Formats: sequence, C-alpha cells, structure tokens
Amino acid sequence: MDFEVTYTPEQEAFRTEVRDWLVDQIPEGLEQPVDPGDLSLEQYEKLRLLGRRLGAKGWLYPTYPTEYGGGGLSVDSVMILEEELDRYGLHLPPYYDSGGRLGGASIYVWGSEEQKQAFLPPIFRGEWRTWQLLSEPNAGSDLAGVQTRAVRDGDEYVINGQKIYIGSLHGCEMMWTIVMTDPDAPRHENLGWLMIPYETEGVTIRPMELLTAGGEGGASPGLKHTVFFENARVPAFNLVGGENNGWKVATTHLELEHGGGGMIRRNKVVDQFLEYCTTTKYNGETLSKDPDIREAMADVFIKNEIVRLFGLRTYWLSHAHKPRSYEGPQTSYTRKITALEVAEEMLRAVGPYAMINDDEWGPLKGLLEHNQRAAVVGLHPGGTTDVQKVIMSRRIGIGRNVKEQAGRLR
Ligand SMILES: Cc1cc2nc3c(=O)[nH]c(=O)nc-3n(C[C@H](O)[C@H](O)[C@H](O)COP(=O)(O)OP(=O)(O)OC[C@H]3O[C@@H](n4cnc5c(N)ncnc54)[C@H](O)[C@@H]3O)c2cc1C
Repeated sequence: MDFEVTYTPEQEAFRTEVRDWLVDQIPEGLEQPVDPGDLSLEQYEKLRLLGRRLGAKGWLYPTYPTEYGGGGLSVDSVMILEEELDRYGLHLPPYYDSGGRLGGASIYVWGSEEQKQAFLPPIFRGEWRTWQLLSEPNAGSDLAGVQTRAVRDGDEYVINGQKIYIGSLHGCEMMWTIVMTDPDAPRHENLGWLMIPYETEGVTIRPMELLTAGGEGGASPGLKHTVFFENARVPAFNLVGGENNGWKVATTHLELEHGGGGMIRRNKVVDQFLEYCTTTKYNGETLSKDPDIREAMADVFIKNEIVRLFGLRTYWLSHAHKPRSYEGPQTSYTRKITALEVAEEMLRAVGPYAMINDDEWGPLKGLLEHNQRAAVVGLHPGGTTDVQKVIMSRRIGIGRNVKEQAGRLR
C-alpha cells in the first residue's frame, strides 16, 4: 500500500456528493469544529440527529451490507466520508457508540440471521446507540475473568453482578456485555455474550466521575458508570454466538478495540498548537521564533504524522479484509504513548500558562490542559499500553511458541 491514498475521478465525485450533503444536513451549530469538552445534552442531541441522518443514507456504518442498515460501500468511499467529516472535527459515528463500532461487528460475525435482522439495522441506522459492559472490579485487563453471572431460566437469562467504567453521558438505548454462563467450564469456554436493553428492570446505573472530561466528540467520554444487575432478565434470544461461546464473540470487538480497526483521524490539538505557536507573540516575538519551541513544533508534528500513518495502514488492512497480525495493537500502543509524549511536549513549549483551563487566560481556551488529562486517562480504555504490548508480542512470536492470530472481523 502507498502510505498516502490517491483517489480516482469517480471517488472525487463521491467526495463532492458527500461535501454537498454535509453542508445541507449538518445540524445547525455543528458547522464549526466540535469542542471535545462540550458535554451538553444539546450538543449530544445534535450529534445523534446527524447520526440518524447519516444512518438513513447508509453512511453511518458504510461498509456493512444495506440489508442490515449499512451502505455497502468500499473502503475508499468510507475514507472519503471520514475525511469530509473530519473537516468538521467529526468522525463515524459522530458520537460515542460502541455498539456500531464494536458490538455490531461481533453480531455481524457471530449472530444468527434472526439476530442480525433484529439488532443490526437499529444500530447501523443510528436509532440505537449502545454501551459496552465489559470491565468488572476484578476483571479489567483480564477480561476472561468476569464474574457477572447469567443463568438460563426458560426463555430468559437472569443476570446478577457488577460492571464498572461503563458508558458516557446521556444514556443509550441498548447495552452489550460478557457474562459467565457456566462456572464449571474451563476458562474462555464459560462465557456468554448478551444484548441488554438500557431500560431493564433489575439494572441500576450510577455515575462514576473520572479525571478526563471528554465530550461526545471524543473516543473516551469523561463520565463513566457502575452498572449493577440484580435478577435482571433478558430474552434468551439476546445471547449472541451460542451457549458458552462468548469469548469467541468478544475476540472480534477486542480486535477492533485493540487498534485492529485502525483510524484515519489525526490529533487536531497538534494542528491547533502549531497554529497557536506561529500566530501568538510573547514579549513582542512570535513563539515559533524561539528555537526550543520550533524544535518542539517539529517534533510533535513528526510524532503525530507517524501515528496517523500507522492508523491509516491498519484502517485499510481491516476494511480491505487483508491479513492482519500485530498491526492493531502496534497502532494502539503507539497512539497512546505518543499522545502522552506530545501532550507533555506541547505543555513544556507553552509553559505554565498551558495549565490554565480557562477561556480568557488559557492558551487555546484550555485545550492543552484538557488534552493532557485525556492523554493520561487514554492509556487505559480499550486495553492498557501494557496489554497492547502483550498482544503484539504474542502475535510476533515473543512469549508464545505458536503465534497468536488476529481476531476475526468478517
Ligand atoms: C476513560 C475510560 C473509559 C472506559 N470505558 C469502558 C467501557 O465503556 N466499558 C468497559 O467495560 N470498560 C471501560 N473501561 C475500563 C478499561 O477497559 C479498563 O480500565 C482496562 O481494561 C484496564 O483494566 P483495570 O482498570 O481493571 O486495570 P488492571 O487490569 O487491574 O491493570 C492494572 C495495571 O496492571 C497492568 N497489567 C494488567 N495485566 C497485565 C499484563 N498481563 N501484563 C502487563 N501489565 C498488566 C495494566 O497495564 C495496568 O497498568 C474504561 C476505562 C477508562 C479509563
């Protein structure tokens, strides 16, 4: 693959169609790049409206077949969609929705035809947004060690247990989870994968405030929840992938969470930092005239570019259904570590003012301070940096005699 993508005239015509459509359909107020710190319900509702509009056109989850609510589009068209949304500081989906990105992919690979018909269209058309309920107090990195129990009772499963670090602001319509279905079976063969409506009796959701304060525009929203199950009942139909097959189902969304889906987004904060340094004066001199600041500017630009290209490679491999191995966790690891390094370098270049998160005094209205918190917290979700290294090592044959395979995406 060429590191940079070039487009045919037909693809450029599609870009024009997308650009025109977005000008018409972007809800009022989203025309300017989205503020990643905006946590308001108003902002969320606008993003959901855009999601439903994209979904109705098949552009929300564009590579999935049209019969399930996707757009049946090729990877090149999706990259064009992503690039055009990126101009507004948005991406697909334009809000936090782990169902379409992760859970939907698992249902597509492991669900029965009836389950695909029931669950995928509302997800892919943006009618449902979903949360993932994976982590537990004693099962984070060791996800296969979950203890939340689901017991079959006639046509239902009865769930008891607790999940942590769940969701985002403003609720959702559906949740998906991994639970223990057979405590006597061996590890990895004792789990089930369930869809659970948000409004289910016996489910209690309590907020859990974290250091970061990301809004819907970011990948890791700041507000998380603890979810308690007390004899919560869901239809047995909602068990995807069959009895005690939950770990296999999970390997699909874990592959995506561990970087296997790639991304084409660049860290826009870096662009804003570069612009700030070339346009802001200190003691009568533009910041970028200072050799140390210039050095930092070049450095963060290079690092940001490396992450973008890693993401682009993995994005293409997964969407073009090419063989994959270590590339996902390598991308995820590099993205997380680089985000931390870049955040620190930008703070150091701007100096103590950068720590002011305030519209009037903080450079870039406090964005650099916000970005630093997000980078620290971002080391954890979707598998920590240590876990990415562990997976990468297994796949290149360090620590395992037989090289581990990447999770199935189609
Ligand atoms: C912002 C945010 C959003 C999140 N969103 C969700 C969500 O929506 N749904 C959800 O289910 N969960 C979510 N999580 C939880 C997240 O998946 C877990 O925090 C993560 O998997 C790590 O688990 P843990 O916190 O239990 O840490 P632990 O697993 O206890 O790890 C503690 C430390 O030990 C290290 N470690 C653990 N195992 C190994 C190993 N084998 N080798 C080397 N080092 C190791 C880890 O890297 C870490 O530094 C979120 C977390 C955050 C911070």
